[in-house]
Amino acid sequence: MTVQKHRFIPAFKDEEAVFQRQLEGVRWTVRHARNSPQYKGKLDAAGVHPEDIQSLDDVRRLPLSSADDLRAGYPLPLLCIPERDIVRIHASSGTTGKRKILAYSRRDVDNFGLQMARCYEMAGLTSMDRIQIAVGYGLWTAGAGFQAGSELFGALTVPIGPGNLDIHLQMLKDMGTTCFAATASMALLMAEEVERSGIVDKIKLRKIIFGSEACSDKMRASFERRLRLEGSYDIGGMTEMYGPGSSIECDAHQGLHYWPDLFYMEILDPDTLEPVKPGEVGEMVVTTLCKEATPLIRYRTRDLTRLLPGVCACGLNLPRHDKIYARSDDMFILRGVNIYPGQIMDVLAQFPELGGEYHITLTRANGRDCMDLATERHSSVSSGLDQDLAARVAEQLHVKLLVRGKVRIVDPGSLPRTVSKSKRITDLRS
Ligand code: ZN
Repeated sequence: MTVQKHRFIPAFKDEEAVFQRQLEGVRWTVRHARNSPQYKGKLDAAGVHPEDIQSLDDVRRLPLSSADDLRAGYPLPLLCIPERDIVRIHASSGTTGKRKILAYSRRDVDNFGLQMARCYEMAGLTSMDRIQIAVGYGLWTAGAGFQAGSELFGALTVPIGPGNLDIHLQMLKDMGTTCFAATASMALLMAEEVERSGIVDKIKLRKIIFGSEACSDKMRASFERRLRLEGSYDIGGMTEMYGPGSSIECDAHQGLHYWPDLFYMEILDPDTLEPVKPGEVGEMVVTTLCKEATPLIRYRTRDLTRLLPGVCACGLNLPRHDKIYARSDDMFILRGVNIYPGQIMDVLAQFPELGGEYHITLTRANGRDCMDLATERHSSVSSGLDQDLAARVAEQLHVKLLVRGKVRIVDPGSLPRTVSKSKRITDLRS
């Protein structure tokens, strides 16, 4: 029997070989991290030494780290190599307080490109593909990662960045782009633009790689159908894990495979910080296995997901996590109830009469929190039934979330579209 050979995706004999690689990586990282006074202090305080890590269970003896550690060490936090060996920095959007700046060594930059090349391979692309990049360039990791990966992979790269819809449409047509890399919001926006300009027969687009925000099944089905795609692939990643490409869906679309020679993932209960039961949802906590400049030890990502046990239907024994349900930061509290955007999307997905886009406004009146949910009617549905539909959506929200809110049905296309992460919640309570 011949096993399919990949050029970039690593192969492991079995699950045991995966664990062994991860254990070696954790031990290397714990030794290497002592080069940073910040990490050395944390490790000494926890009383853990590299030789204490005898199995992956021992990872739980290591101290947790978080965005606070990155901010505390600003501008070069948790740095484990001499500054002269840094070849690049990236920063993540600091919505609160200082930006998080992450440093990269030469090898880190190479591994960043490698993880993205693996993603293109997983998405079934070849060096004959033409990849149009619609994610942000600059301090953000996204554009740099998609581009370096595409070049390493050998595809033709069309680097555009977000926005510039006219240029995107023109390049889609003129360059015969076959793969589009964007946020889900931008993918949907492009699909609407392609439809509006009537060029769907003139383009060769067959795949979309999307990421960086929760994407409802509806949104995905909508851009897949409008653009007549062969498939789309949810990609994982964050600046702390080099950038995009730490994980991606395969053709089985049953979760995202992650690279076990680069990362070890745990899922913890965000309140108790104890491991959840296998397969349960919790906070993704990551240890990097060969990151030189800014390694992560048990880094709390704030992303909520679960690990998927067993071998994937695609046959690869690379470990998988489920889609990111939410960032715990995106949670909002309404009348004492924790609510995640993913829960709202799940409710809206039950109504075929809805388009999938929504916006929430939180206000306070007479000392009481109020939620106003605006959601778009599906383009095939008339507005005559709005009142009845709104009442049914409100009822379902109450059943699922245990809080009541006002629901308004609005015209398709009337809610603001953004090219970056959609801002779906406006909180006017403070
Ligand atoms: Zn798979």
